[in-house]
Amino acid sequence: CGFIAIVGRPNVGKSTLLNRILGQKISITSKKAQTTRHRILGIHTEGKYQAIYVDTPGLHIEEKRAINRLMNRAASSTIGDVDLIIFLTDGTHWTDDDEMVLNKLRQVKTPVVLAVNKVDNIKNKDELLPFLTEMSQKFPFKDIVPISAQKGKNIDILEKIVRESLRKGIHHYP
Ligand code: GDP
Repeated sequence: CGFIAIVGRPNVGKSTLLNRILGQKISITSKKAQTTRHRILGIHTEGKYQAIYVDTPGLHIEEKRAINRLMNRAASSTIGDVDLIIFLTDGTHWTDDDEMVLNKLRQVKTPVVLAVNKVDNIKNKDELLPFLTEMSQKFPFKDIVPISAQKGKNIDILEKIVRESLRKGIHHYP
């Protein structure tokens, strides 16, 4: 069993991706369930494999106000506490908010898989490869996968990467 956080700035498609992953093979969802550290958003079970998706509220917000700094600190402890992070970006826009989320990810040791979403919306497909290359130079991602959460493209590949990372990387997973 592994805990996975999907993180990213607003509007990159986090909810759409979660619905896509859980919608296919869902066994339980509990949108309001609370644990001390995470809000459990859904559990994906397949045989012995179980992935628990958790929410990381407040990761993207600016730090000018004290309350925001507190929320960011809580979010940072969440991402330090899961087994794997899916960092979701929008392949059509890289923004300062993405950069901010990435800086948070630099502060923890949790492995990060980059999912570049909305590739269905990229008009010039020649731009994708240089973008992916640039990303691979920015951060030591465990893997990088272009996806479309909306159209369901490469979701199977992302799930396979998640599953294999959990199997290899977690000491309590047999
Ligand atoms: P969140 O704020 O990160 O949870 O983002 P949402 O899941 O609410 O998605 C934000 C918007 O992006 C919605 O209008 C989605 O329909 C759209 N969206 C999500 N995934 C995709 C995708 O793969 N392709 C396209 N073209 N739009 C997407």
